[in-house]
Amino acid sequence: MSSARLHGWGGGPGVRADVVAIDDEAQLAALLADTDPDRELICRGMGRSYGDAAQRDGGLVLDLRRCRRTALDPARGTVRAGAGATLDQLLGELAPAGWLLPVVPGTQHVTVGGAIACDIHGKNHGAVGSFGSHVRALGLLTAAGESLELSREDGAELLDATIGGLGLTGVITWAEIALMPAPSGVELSVDVVRVHDLDAAFAALDAPGGPYRVAWLDLLGPGLTRGVVTRAEPAPHEPGPPDRGPRATRRSRRPGPRPVTVAAKARVPSWWPAGALRPATVRAHNALRFHAAPRRARGRREGFGAHMFPLDVLREWPRLYGPAGFVQYQCVVPRGAERALQRLLERLRASSVPCYLAVLKDFGPESSAPLSFPMQGWTLALDMPRAAPGLTALLAAFDTIVAEAGGRVYLAKDARLDATMLAAMYPRLPEWRAVRDRIDPERRWVSDLARRTGLVAR
Ligand SMILES: Cc1cc2nc3c(=O)[nH]c(=O)nc-3n(C[C@H](O)[C@H](O)[C@H](O)COP(=O)(O)OP(=O)(O)OC[C@H]3O[C@@H](n4cnc5c(N)ncnc54)[C@H](O)[C@@H]3O)c2cc1C
Repeated sequence: MSSARLHGWGGGPGVRADVVAIDDEAQLAALLADTDPDRELICRGMGRSYGDAAQRDGGLVLDLRRCRRTALDPARGTVRAGAGATLDQLLGELAPAGWLLPVVPGTQHVTVGGAIACDIHGKNHGAVGSFGSHVRALGLLTAAGESLELSREDGAELLDATIGGLGLTGVITWAEIALMPAPSGVELSVDVVRVHDLDAAFAALDAPGGPYRVAWLDLLGPGLTRGVVTRAEPAPHEPGPPDRGPRATRRSRRPGPRPVTVAAKARVPSWWPAGALRPATVRAHNALRFHAAPRRARGRREGFGAHMFPLDVLREWPRLYGPAGFVQYQCVVPRGAERALQRLLERLRASSVPCYLAVLKDFGPESSAPLSFPMQGWTLALDMPRAAPGLTALLAAFDTIVAEAGGRVYLAKDARLDATMLAAMYPRLPEWRAVRDRIDPERRWVSDLARRTGLVAR
């Protein structure tokens, strides 16, 4: 056990907690039995949630990253993975065998436990739903030290409370995940279209085309919101020239498959000066990015990893924001409430808060998990410096707009929502709490997020 300072991906001062690295379930069960029942516990994976979901000030944090054993079952099209297995590890193992994870988020550096506990979504939510929908079964170690196996057939209610349950029902120890066949490799065929306002972005995200859809928006440009929408799908296999054996020249050999993950190309140093990221710099970068995109293009071939995880090429990129860090505000509003997002962006423009990254996506129907974030509609994610004057009031105004529209904020990204807003945005909260309180009556699982939002009452 060691004492460490922990914070979310958004940075900031963080909190101090004791951290224990877990090797296996036997160690975990012994630790639970030996720990003072009043000590508050929470799991942590790769710490890629942006706020305070994976930390507890003064508590005991269980680091699951060493529990990363995997076993592919090609006959059933599933993989059984330890909770600490990361998605880049899994993609690297599965792709050569002709399989793909059905859901990946915008970074490859997340664990299976974190993916389930936040019920993460990918760019293809409209087509395949969220990560939890592909979990056939999982192992849960409860606060009482009981080892459960949950599936749709046996323990569906607790399974649903654990999917999106932010680690507050117990420790996810392993999961069996249904896979997608990827027989032709994992290259993507990408359609690109530039848009000059928000309505055009909605329309382009709704247009026919591939299932992986996303709009990057430039909110610092002149006039209205503009952006670039991509719709991608697995590319048909393109056979290379025949392999003429070991004596063939390099050029005549069949090209190898494009990597399904991405390698980091650079790292932001720890001495990066505060305030170096400025609206003028990002404005210029955005203008270049917008004009570099084709007005309209079809069938551009891109590697899966490069398309899905563009931010992973720059290690420690949150350091660009300086020591105060940044906040990501990600919300969803139902279809028909597009005007709410328009209002939200108008409020942002009228404020002095700069938004350095903005992403819009469409979501398909919601899942059966009561705390799961996605709902049929539109999700908008905005990255803003935490130190920006007026940010607190602006985000409170966003909350009101989103809640009035029947939408909600994504807890995996959240660092500031309060209990009243949480209850307004997650109407199935009482149902989730009832299941949680039954499985952990002494409330041993507590994170800073759970305390702040009242997810777990005192
Ligand atoms: C660049 C970037 C892009 C992203 N893009 C997306 C996106 O497109 N879609 C999306 O949905 N999310 C996205 N995210 C958020 C990320 O996918 C989630 O926050 C994910 O949960 C992080 O996994 P982790 O292993 O880092 O978990 P952590 O951040 O360490 O923990 C997250 C939560 O999971 C719980 N947890 C972790 N392990 C376990 C376990 N074994 N048992 C029980 N509970 C556990 C923790 O207690 C905590 O509540 C993005 C994050 C980044 C940094």
